[in-house]
Amino acid sequence: MKKSAPVSRREYARFLDKNGNDFIDDSLIRDLIEKNKNPEKKRIRQIIAKALEIKRLEPEETAALLNVKDRDLLLEMQEAALEVKKKVYDNRIVTFAPLYLSNLCINDCLYCAFRKSNAAEKRRILTLKETEEETKALISSGHKRIIVVYGEYPSSGIDYMTDTINTIYSVKVRHGEIRRVNVNAAPMKIRDLKKLKKTGIGTYQVFQETYHHETYAKVHPSGPKSDYRWRLYALHRAQEAGIDDVAIGALFGLYDWRFEVMGLLYHTIDLEKHFGIGPHTISFPRLEPASGSELPEKSKHKVSDGDFMKLISVIRLSVPYTGMIITARETAKIRRNALSSGITQTDASTKIGIGAYSDRYSKQEAERQQFMLGDTRSLDKVIGEFAEMGHIVSFCTAGYRCGRTGECIMNLLKKGEEKWFCKMNAVLTFREWLDDYASPETKKKGEKIIKKEINEIKTKKPEVFKRFSEQYEKIKNGDRDIYF
Ligand code: SAM
Ligand code: SF4
Repeated sequence: MKKSAPVSRREYARFLDKNGNDFIDDSLIRDLIEKNKNPEKKRIRQIIAKALEIKRLEPEETAALLNVKDRDLLLEMQEAALEVKKKVYDNRIVTFAPLYLSNLCINDCLYCAFRKSNAAEKRRILTLKETEEETKALISSGHKRIIVVYGEYPSSGIDYMTDTINTIYSVKVRHGEIRRVNVNAAPMKIRDLKKLKKTGIGTYQVFQETYHHETYAKVHPSGPKSDYRWRLYALHRAQEAGIDDVAIGALFGLYDWRFEVMGLLYHTIDLEKHFGIGPHTISFPRLEPASGSELPEKSKHKVSDGDFMKLISVIRLSVPYTGMIITARETAKIRRNALSSGITQTDASTKIGIGAYSDRYSKQEAERQQFMLGDTRSLDKVIGEFAEMGHIVSFCTAGYRCGRTGECIMNLLKKGEEKWFCKMNAVLTFREWLDDYASPETKKKGEKIIKKEINEIKTKKPEVFKRFSEQYEKIKNGDRDIYF
């Protein structure tokens, strides 16, 4: 098959080192994993202690954590991961829903149902009217944050993206609206990223899929996505375009999971080096069976549940300040366990068919899905479960709307100062949600957690309690979208 020409090097050449290399040195990563094969208990405990001080780990340290096999130490790592999460994010969890707008794609990623050569895939791109319908359905189920997902195709390029995002922000259903639109879309030129920024997006997310150069070339045989570096520096360009909340991720199962964790860390370090700030979130989806996939059902790099839990703890400890996302690809049980290892964000009531939230042809939904989901429970059910586990779901979107983004939010998070803003906003937005959308059962569970949080604000932050209580009363009386 003829390969399409790589996109201009000019967009990323300035980030390469003086020998023209990118920041992923495959043999160095392999050596580090090998060299740290039998880490001593004492050293692991020192590394854990460093993470507990909310300091980002170095590659040698992460490589050592990846090699831990001792069950007690693994448990210590998991406990420390949860401790780190609590220090930075307390007991808050953020929920969102993905909104797939188009499955047209010029790339041929072997693992994805949307790939160009999957002739069985029915192609669809939502009109603005359909986008509005999807948004209404999402708002009605209680969502305030979504992530829009696009294939890569000329007709779903930057103009389509900005039109659909503007449409989403314009929709209102009674009290409700979408207050934060994050974006998962193909790498773009700086010119287009600036247009994206203008729509008022939250986070821009691009997964490298695999950091291993050779595997990357194998699974991305053609199209713009076959250019590893065009993708590797997508978020560097986003930063230059002024989008300072960027999100990285790897698709676990394409290559050795230890290598991918190291890749995510090196990506973090390179973003820190150039922009003084790491990723806003890290994602670690596991490869799921997809119709039309060219990969064998049983990949030799399939990540077991045990290794998956371990990698979550290792990422949490390695980049203590970052948000961590687990999605509905995983089962409810795995998501529950992951919550105890430091996850901060998850989706709920997820549908990944194009037009699936609003349309009535749900029989066809499976055909239009990108891959199979592990957890299709409603937002109400998921929130009820989290409340029972002692987590408060925060619908707060104040941060990016009042300039607490990028480096500013990261510094506040590292110092633990964002905690009180976030706690108060979590309570205000959760109150709103309970009154507008919760079932009686979930409301009962939610009230308990709200009571506990209010008590904490009263005893630990008395200087702001009066102001907080006034805002809380306003929400109870029907005011909406109040935040600190
Ligand atoms: N087309 C854009 C891109 O590739 O960056 C964005 C959309 S793509 C649908 C979003 C993500 O879905 C990909 O980055 C990939 O990690 C994930 N994905 C694709 N196929 C998958 C599969 N079979 N199982 C799990 N995740 C998958
Ligand atoms: Fe297209 Fe993205 Fe799927 Fe690749 S992962 S085929 S680029 S939609």
